Amino acid sequence: MIPSVLPTYSRAPLNFVKGEGTWLIEADGRRFLDLGAGIAVNALGHANPELVKALTDQAQRLWHTSNLYQIPQQQALADKLVAHSFADTVFFTNSGTESCELAVKMARKHFYDKGEPDRVEIITFSGSFHGRSAAGIAAAGSEKMTKGFGPLLPGFVHLEFGDHDALRAAITDTTCAVLVEPVQGEGGIRPVPDVCLKGLRDLCDEHGILMILDEVQCGVGRTGKLFAHEWAGVTPDIMMVAKGIGGGFPLGGVLATEEAASGMTAGTHGSTYGGNPLGCAVGCAVMDIVTDPAFLAEVNRKAGLLRQKLEGLVASHPEVFDSVRGSGLMLGLKCKGEPAALVKAGYAEELLTVPAAGNVVRLLPPLTITDAELSEAVSRLDRAAATVAAH
Ligand SMILES: *Cc1c(COP(=O)(O)O)cnc(C)c1O
Repeated sequence: MIPSVLPTYSRAPLNFVKGEGTWLIEADGRRFLDLGAGIAVNALGHANPELVKALTDQAQRLWHTSNLYQIPQQQALADKLVAHSFADTVFFTNSGTESCELAVKMARKHFYDKGEPDRVEIITFSGSFHGRSAAGIAAAGSEKMTKGFGPLLPGFVHLEFGDHDALRAAITDTTCAVLVEPVQGEGGIRPVPDVCLKGLRDLCDEHGILMILDEVQCGVGRTGKLFAHEWAGVTPDIMMVAKGIGGGFPLGGVLATEEAASGMTAGTHGSTYGGNPLGCAVGCAVMDIVTDPAFLAEVNRKAGLLRQKLEGLVASHPEVFDSVRGSGLMLGLKCKGEPAALVKAGYAEELLTVPAAGNVVRLLPPLTITDAELSEAVSRLDRAAATVAAH
């Protein structure tokens, strides 16, 4: 008999009932150190007092009106995002996959309005993940995500990650954009090297096409800059965000330049809940914290510390680990075998990590993690690795 919850996830037998910073408390009282943060969502930890206050203050005043009216919290969050990024304008969504939908529509509409209606194709890369909507799975294109769900949304060209020659050859007069994650998340914590992101920007400029970045997982302070592309010193035309921007409240957005967004006039797109007062009140509180240079400096310092400790861990378990990779507090441990074994051994040590493709275990702790918690996490990883090695 089918479970009452549609069984699209294979879930661990863990029932969390409470969160405190970097910790999740199981119904039986066990305290788990959370290096998954709900897959990079709880960027400021669980039950962060400033976010709780922003949400509950707003909840007592007004939950929902409609995008038929002005929404002051939405205006405030858009202003903050515009002030701190390349963007001139923002559309708010409730998730990453909705942001992907709009990014695709926006890119096509841009060229349609420029009198180039045949420019509809978007180039994407192997190992990418852009969500589970029809556009999202078509964009990623992997068999794992698309099999059985055809016919797929047309207009995506899939290339091998890192194949520069194929990329040059693939851009034609029907290409409208290149869509890429600056650091692949689900694909196994694969950063696009800064020089490649720069090269991609140049290539897009050369051909007059749009660069769309998916910063749903790597954005909002995760890599030690507010947005990951800042490391490369380039800016996109369109960028998707979600996950960390809501700190655990469902919130996403599409940021764009005035030029890229020019086709999105009244009536061309919408969302009932997108940009609602609750989500935007929390988003404002998140932005106020993560845009503080001192906060980002701390993320970078802790990232260096964790990376150093992980290099040591890899060196002491060569039979379990291959290497460490990633950027900031978005790190991956490449394993010699199935990552599920280490994730499971972690549960026994009351430690949460997240598997990814390419035999990688992802470490995406709350950006507020303390030095003591980092040390504790690595001790638990060390014990989990010993368990894996013994099997
Ligand atoms: C999680 C994720 C998405 C999809 O976000 P949802 O909120 O699950 O729809 C899209 N792109 C990237 C890079 C992601 O990590």
